[in-house]
Amino acid sequence: MKNWKVKFSNSTVSFVLDGSFTAIDKIVDKTQAIYITDENVYALHQKKFKGKKTIVIPAGEEHKQQATVDFIIEALLNFGATRQVVLIGVGGGVVTDIVGYVAGVYMRGVAVGFVPTTILAMVDASIGGKNGIDVGLYKNMVGLIRQPQFLVYDVDFLKSLPKHQWENGFAEIIKHAAIKDAKMMKELSMNNIGYYQKNKKALVSLIERNVQIKIKVVQKDEFEKGDRKLLNFGHTIGHAIENQHVLLHGHAISIGMVYAAKISQVLTGFSETNILVETLKKYGLPTAMHFDIQEAMQVMQKDKKKASAGMQYVVLQKIGKAVSETIPMKSLEKLIKLYS
Ligand code: NAD
Ligand code: ZN
Repeated sequence: MKNWKVKFSNSTVSFVLDGSFTAIDKIVDKTQAIYITDENVYALHQKKFKGKKTIVIPAGEEHKQQATVDFIIEALLNFGATRQVVLIGVGGGVVTDIVGYVAGVYMRGVAVGFVPTTILAMVDASIGGKNGIDVGLYKNMVGLIRQPQFLVYDVDFLKSLPKHQWENGFAEIIKHAAIKDAKMMKELSMNNIGYYQKNKKALVSLIERNVQIKIKVVQKDEFEKGDRKLLNFGHTIGHAIENQHVLLHGHAISIGMVYAAKISQVLTGFSETNILVETLKKYGLPTAMHFDIQEAMQVMQKDKKKASAGMQYVVLQKIGKAVSETIPMKSLEKLIKLYS
């Protein structure tokens, strides 16, 4: 069993990489474990939860809300959960975000571990300790930065993951390649989702490399003052159009990354936009879309990354090397118009 012990500023997190769900029994006192998952994962993998205390929550971003937190807390009280309880969130980023948050506040904090079951949660959402919930339409408005004790990776869960959720996760994988790993971009450009679905070894290895990239970025900057911002590559415009068009997150940031690449051409002389665009296309991701620029600018005005001098915007110098620059909002708007 591959078990990476990763140090963050206040704690050490165990990453059980090539694990299986049953590995949890070796890590956690069975009598203290309470599993929390969503209705989709539960329906598709019911056998795995047999004989385990399990709380099932409704699936979907629209349930990443306080009402679900209350529901979980009531269920925990009904189970008689004390401070010794270990919560285990099994699911996509919605589940790991909510469960991480509940664990941070239930009885002022209890232990938590994650079993991410979407590509996006495996390479992104479950790593780094950020958790939280939405407040109405405002995303991730309430939450904590607090590391889980462990993460267990079991790629068998992915067998039931719908195709568009694979695309969603691969958008973040391509993002990691764009900002940190030119070699991985090369590998990605030569393959496609079908290849990774058929080749478990390649999939596990790709996930591990992405876990490593996210861990490294977070370790350098756990509380988001510098390097962690690079993970926002493609997300500024991505978020703005995601809201406007009810797009899948990965689809929105794919378009956002293409804009960011083109804007990089102007700001840094970046010359590899075509490599990024062709790779995104190979993974079924959209690379262009008409949207209301004025409306998008309004959303960006409210972005957490906006400072008074302008937007902190991530650009590429080359594939594998990203930097964050402050762009005045007016200039950003001009650049978006230039490429629309
Ligand atoms: P999700 O949790 O909604 O999962 C997507 C869908 O797939 C859901 O319907 C879910 O029920 C289903 N599903 C999950 N695993 C499955 C499986 N193995 N087989 C079949 N269906 C399965 O969404 P997501 O894309 O995993 O994560 C998105 C969330 O993550 C957002 O709320 C986002 O804000 C959050 N996020 C958090 C961070 C962070 O640092 N905390 C980073 C990125 C994203
Ligand atoms: Zn993202």
